Amino acid sequence: MGELTTFPVSVKVAGRKVLVVGGGDEALAKVRLLAKTRADIHVASSAMDVDFSEFAVTPVSRAPVPCDFLGAALVFIADYGPEGRAAERMARAAGIPCNVVDRPSRCDFYTPSIVDRAPLTIAISSEGASPVLARLIRARIEAMLPPALGKLASLAGSLRHKVEALIQDGATRRRFYEALVTSPVIADATGAEALLLRHAAAEAKGEVWLIGAGPGAEDLLTLRAQRLLQEADVIVHDQLVPAAVVEMGRRDAERIPVGKTKGHHSFSQAQINTLLVRLAGEGKRVARLKSGDPMVFGRAGEEIAALRKAGIPYTIVPGVTAALAAAADTASPLTLRKVSSGVVFATAHGADDEALRHWASLAGSGLSLALYMGKSIAAETAARLMAHGLPGATPVGIVVNAGRADRKASLGTLSGLASGAGQFPQGPAVILVGDAVAAGDWADALPIDQLQQRVA
Ligand code: SAH
Repeated sequence: MGELTTFPVSVKVAGRKVLVVGGGDEALAKVRLLAKTRADIHVASSAMDVDFSEFAVTPVSRAPVPCDFLGAALVFIADYGPEGRAAERMARAAGIPCNVVDRPSRCDFYTPSIVDRAPLTIAISSEGASPVLARLIRARIEAMLPPALGKLASLAGSLRHKVEALIQDGATRRRFYEALVTSPVIADATGAEALLLRHAAAEAKGEVWLIGAGPGAEDLLTLRAQRLLQEADVIVHDQLVPAAVVEMGRRDAERIPVGKTKGHHSFSQAQINTLLVRLAGEGKRVARLKSGDPMVFGRAGEEIAALRKAGIPYTIVPGVTAALAAAADTASPLTLRKVSSGVVFATAHGADDEALRHWASLAGSGLSLALYMGKSIAAETAARLMAHGLPGATPVGIVVNAGRADRKASLGTLSGLASGAGQFPQGPAVILVGDAVAAGDWADALPIDQLQQRVA
C-alpha cells in the first residue's frame, strides 16, 4: 500500500454553484455528470458549440469573468485554451478548487469514476494516472451490485429504529440488513417491513440455498451464487465442485464436504438431507453447493422435499450444467435448425434397456443426446443405442472436464465408441450424441478410436 497523494472526500454540492468553463463535448460530459446532483450548474464560454438544453443550466456565451466565480464550490475547466487558462487563474485567485480536464498536473482534485446507487456512492480513483483502469473496475463493481441497492440502502436507514426495537440479537440484525440490501425483489417500505417481521419472527431461523456452481471454472459461477456464498454460515459441497470454487465462499464459513465420487459415498443422500435440515434448524444459512445446475442430476428433488417437510425456507440458484459447458467448449450447437430440434439430458448410469430404446428413437428422430455419468460404460451404452437402431455413423463427441482449463475433447462415431475405446482422461465427462455434434469445432479433439492407443 503506497502513500496517498490525494484524499478522497465527497463534496456537498446541493444548492451550491459549480462552474463549468467550456462549450464543447468535454463541458457537456461534465454537466451530464453534475446533473446527477442538485448543484446549481453554471456554464461559461465564448464558444458554445454544444446544446445544454436537456439540463437545468443557463449557459452564458462569453468568456468567464471573476464574478462568475463568486461563491462557487468547484470549478471545472473543460477547455484549456486561453479562456480556460484565464479561468484557472481566476479560480486560484478566488481560492476555489479547480479541475482541468485531461491535465492532471493542473488539477486540485480529480473526479473519480462513480458507481451510483444513491445514497450509496462508490468512487474509484487512480489519482488521474489511469482513468481506463478506473473505468474497468467500475464496470466490474456495477455488475456486482443490484441496481436497486441504493433504494434498499435508504430503506435500511429508515428502518433502523424499528430493527433495533424488534431484533435484539446482533447477528440476526446483520442478517436482516444483508438480506434487505441484496434482495432482488424488495422494492418499497412495505416489502422491507415484511422482511423485517419475518426475520424478527424467525429470530435465528436458518435457510438453505441450493446453488449451482457450474462446471468448475470460477468465472462460470453466477453473480448470485457468488453473493450467497459470501453470506453463508456453512458451505456444504459436493466432491465435483473444485476447491477454488469452494474457496470463493465467506472466509469464516464452515465447509463440509459431502463428496460423492463414484464408488465412494462419504455421506448418503439421506444423511445429507438430515444434515441440511439440522444446520438450518440451528439458525444457519447454508449454501448447498452442487456442480453444474442443482436441478440436473443433482438430487435437488430429494433435498427440497426434506426441507419442505421440515418447514425450512430454501432458494435455488441455477448454474451452467455440464452439457452446456461441453457444447460451449466445442462450439457444438445442441439444437440446430433442420438438424436437431431438441436436446435430451439423460443419465447413462443406471439406464435400463427401455430407456436406451427410447433415447435411440429420440436421437434417430433428430434430437441431440447429452449423456451424463456415462464414462465408464460409454462403449456399452453406444452398443446398446446401436442395437436399438441408432446408426453406427451417428457423430459422438466426448468432453472431459468441460468448462475447465484442462478440458479434453474427443470426436468419433457411435460405432467407434462401441468398439471399445474405454480409456478416457481423468475427470467427469459428458457424451454428446447426434448429427448436430458434427457442426461443432472439434479441431483439438482426439479421435475416439485412438483413445485406447494414446493411453497405452
Ligand atoms: N448437476 C451436474 C451434474 C451432476 S452428475 C450438472 O448439472 O452438470 C455428475 C455428472 O455430471 C458427471 O458424471 C458428468 O457426466 C457430468 N459432469 C459434471 N461436471 C462435468 C464437467 N466439468 N465436465 C464434463 N462432465 C461433467
